[in-house]
Amino acid sequence: MAPLQPPPPLEGKKRRIGMMTSGGDSPGMNGAIRAVVRTAIDAGCEVYCIYEGYEGLVKGKDFIRKFEWPFVRGWLSEGGTLIGTARCMEFYERPGRLLGAKNMVLNGIDALIICGGDGSLTGADKFRAEWPGLLEELVQTGELTAEQTKPFKHLNIVGLVGSIDNDMSGTDATIGCYSALGRICEMVDYIEATASSHSRAFVIEVMGRHCGWLALMAGVATGADFVFIPEKPRAENWKEEMCGLIAEHRKFGKRKTIVIVAEGAHDQDGGKITCEMIKDLLADKKGLALDTRITTLGHVQRGGTACAYDRMIATLQGVEAVKAVLDATPDTPTPFIAINENKITRKPLVQAVIDTKEVAKAIEARDFKKAMGLRDTEFIDMYDSYMTTTATSLNKSMLLPGDKHMRIAIIHVGAPAGGVNAATRAAVAYCLTRGHTPIAIHNGFAGFARHHDDKPEGAVREFNWLEVDGWASKGGSEIGMNRETPEESGMELIASLIAKYKIDGLFIIGGFEAFHSLSQLRQARKDYSSLCIPMTLLPATISNNVPGTEYSLGSDTCLNELMNYCDKIKQSASASRRRVFVIETQGGKSGYIATLAGLCVGAVAVYTHEEGISIAMLAADIDHLRKAFESDSGQSRAGRLILVNEKASKVYTARLIADMIREEAHDRFESRDSIPGHVQQGGVPSPMDRTRAVRLAIKCIEHLEGFQDRRDSTILDDDQSCTVIGIKGASVVFTPMKEVEEKDTDWKNRRPLNEFWSPLKHIVDVLSGRPEVPRPERNLEGFKAKDKKRGIA
Ligand code: ADP
Repeated sequence: MAPLQPPPPLEGKKRRIGMMTSGGDSPGMNGAIRAVVRTAIDAGCEVYCIYEGYEGLVKGKDFIRKFEWPFVRGWLSEGGTLIGTARCMEFYERPGRLLGAKNMVLNGIDALIICGGDGSLTGADKFRAEWPGLLEELVQTGELTAEQTKPFKHLNIVGLVGSIDNDMSGTDATIGCYSALGRICEMVDYIEATASSHSRAFVIEVMGRHCGWLALMAGVATGADFVFIPEKPRAENWKEEMCGLIAEHRKFGKRKTIVIVAEGAHDQDGGKITCEMIKDLLADKKGLALDTRITTLGHVQRGGTACAYDRMIATLQGVEAVKAVLDATPDTPTPFIAINENKITRKPLVQAVIDTKEVAKAIEARDFKKAMGLRDTEFIDMYDSYMTTTATSLNKSMLLPGDKHMRIAIIHVGAPAGGVNAATRAAVAYCLTRGHTPIAIHNGFAGFARHHDDKPEGAVREFNWLEVDGWASKGGSEIGMNRETPEESGMELIASLIAKYKIDGLFIIGGFEAFHSLSQLRQARKDYSSLCIPMTLLPATISNNVPGTEYSLGSDTCLNELMNYCDKIKQSASASRRRVFVIETQGGKSGYIATLAGLCVGAVAVYTHEEGISIAMLAADIDHLRKAFESDSGQSRAGRLILVNEKASKVYTARLIADMIREEAHDRFESRDSIPGHVQQGGVPSPMDRTRAVRLAIKCIEHLEGFQDRRDSTILDDDQSCTVIGIKGASVVFTPMKEVEEKDTDWKNRRPLNEFWSPLKHIVDVLSGRPEVPRPERNLEGFKAKDKKRGIA
């Protein structure tokens, strides 16, 4: 029952925060709720979940419930939203919003965090704008007294964008969009197998009425032959264009045809393009006559548990939303929490809502240039990338004159990581579109050095389009990968081979060994004229430990594998309930995947090499576990997880930690160790790794092109001629190797000096309720300094 009198305000800056999910559900919403609830409680606030979105706000009473810490245990791995969502007609009208305001005041709620789509956030903004007037009216009509409304002068609202369509302007991704994309890619991968077997065509409809993000990204990730999106209708002669392109792909020997259509696809005159129309064209067109089927994916796109990325952004954005509430002043414009590349930011909600609505309006007015212009840079980049890699022959205008053509070698160095093949496919397709010759070097520098004489055609050869076309979704490395560096292979030999094969641009894909190799090549350039060519590295390693970037290809695939593994293991404990799993993760001496997986599964502790492990730390964590099990009211039966990086300690291995916990638990709970090992490299790469691979690989070849007429020693004067591409904060950048090697590389520990993710460890600890534990001796000073910075005495 809602109280008749609002409770007195909380002391100081502490707030009573309302949290709701509204509009269409999306995977990751539960992660956002968990993060908001726990961050708010940790900050001394009270948090109330409002069930069924605005419906619950209007109805009040039991729809508004105070949440405690344990209520959200296990929520990260649940799909949809556990506090319900609804479309609420009443909230569109003022009387509905009046009731909402009254219920807020009666519950003492003075801030609202709403996770929903653009509709929900539009409603939120309207509510905030009307707030003083609503309170005034409630007093005038005698619903509330002036005394009651006095502490509620300003309403703070923070928006979190939960939507599978990724249709909000101002943010690169919405909570749920990568999970939906994952589902689509999984389905298309299945369909491809049968399409190829029968040599069929499939027309696949995906969601997106005004936003083609899902269709476009699925096209990029799966290498679909043709894509239709609302923002950029195909040319007027799209029928001929599509049939011509597909006929050409078939002529090259392709046995499957995939066309992806967004729900809202239309032609330039606004006429709807349906799957049936496309099917009829492909089936009836003379010369094509393809056996064509239609698959409409529908609601499977919404379902299921959230992928790692959605859990990560939901969590980090939830934390940021609470911070935004606490920072708010009466003058702060209402923010929503966005992500741009790798940076979580607060942005004005009103503008984003206006821009989002503008896209729909521009599409309706057939101003497609404007519609595309209102989408973010990543979207536009992806569109160009798609057209370059898949619709190669439609891009005749991109062909360079003969004297600008380059021979670009592609080499994989290190261990396989998801997206390596997709990057290679994109680089090859881009090279062919421009007239360059893409050259495969098999099995890294070792392969290059050892096999050139006896089997020259096997070690070094030109790529062709068809062989790489099927690599968009392939895991592993199709041209072979090796950890050997050029110095180990013999720098003189490598330099002579580069001269022999007349290579005038080098594109390296790989992890820390690839980084090390490029560093050696860079330093050898002064001694060998053949090495005076542009070189660039696209980091690809599950460990995500390459300096110069915050993201490496394959790290997302790895996180998803690890997260799924942890989810399953956690669930396996549900029969006995009281069980701790100590899981050893890979990552070399970088704690990235352990920490991020910890964030995605809600680990009770994460042990990394950066921090180390001490006996006092273990004792404190075991004590914490004992208390946690004691007070466990059985809300969730899942087990608890501790993640240990493989190099965290030479002595305290996962097995030993599990044994120590068991010994100390005295039968009150049990523990097991588990090592997922190479499973972490992943099978099929995640859509994020696949799509980013395409985008970044194309940027790399474009970058090499910039040095096309500088293949002599003058290139040494330009630091940009030897670079690593990376995502840093909100941008994609090429950083000179010289700079990264000298300023940002911890060579001994094979990781960046400044690991961007280190503050996330604190968030994992806070959200799992881990108390401040004694830090290992060797890190004590560092942590004291950090604690001081965070304001912890
Ligand atoms: P989404 O948030 O997924 O875009 P909707 O557009 O259906 O979904 O919006 C969800 C709910 O938000 C609506 O049912 C309604 O209660 C509220 N809402 C949406 N737009 C407005 C508006 N302009 N004014 C007031 N409330 C709105």
